[in-house]
Amino acid sequence: MIEEPKPPEYRVGIGTDIHRIVEGRKLMLGGVHIPFPAGLLGHSDGDVALHAIVDALLGAAGLGDIGTLFPDTDVQWKDADSKAFLYTVREQLEKKQWEVVNVDLTIHTEAPKLGPMKGQIRRCIAGLLGMDFASVNVKAKTNEGLGEIGSGDAMSATAIALLRKKTRRTL
Ligand code: MG
Repeated sequence: MIEEPKPPEYRVGIGTDIHRIVEGRKLMLGGVHIPFPAGLLGHSDGDVALHAIVDALLGAAGLGDIGTLFPDTDVQWKDADSKAFLYTVREQLEKKQWEVVNVDLTIHTEAPKLGPMKGQIRRCIAGLLGMDFASVNVKAKTNEGLGEIGSGDAMSATAIALLRKKTRRTL
């Protein structure tokens, strides 16, 4: 009897994050340094976009969350480049045979205008995850002046990621 090939296994995950905007910090978004007079407060570099993506990937793979994997009580992650978080998660996904199908990210901020930087952020995230540029999407929105985002006190991000289990090829 010939066995029917199994349908591919997919998992979707969502991630959100918020960081306070403060003076005297470098603004890092999606692994890219954005020229701006203020940055994001955090134990690490405060890259709200990469943190949301990390949580989306971990969520999809059922691997927990960023706070468990990289606790802010650990000096190892003090002022850490958040790209290191993404590399670690990518390794974990590879170990479990997951490949990332696509990532969609929205950054919520009143300023700066991210339009001119979106391509660079997409390229950076695609590079970090070893994906095609077309499989990563980056959107930016203001909060219409409402709440802590609207007042310029904080920046947040929402990400969704789809994973597909790699099929083992047998000869
Ligand atoms: Mg964070």
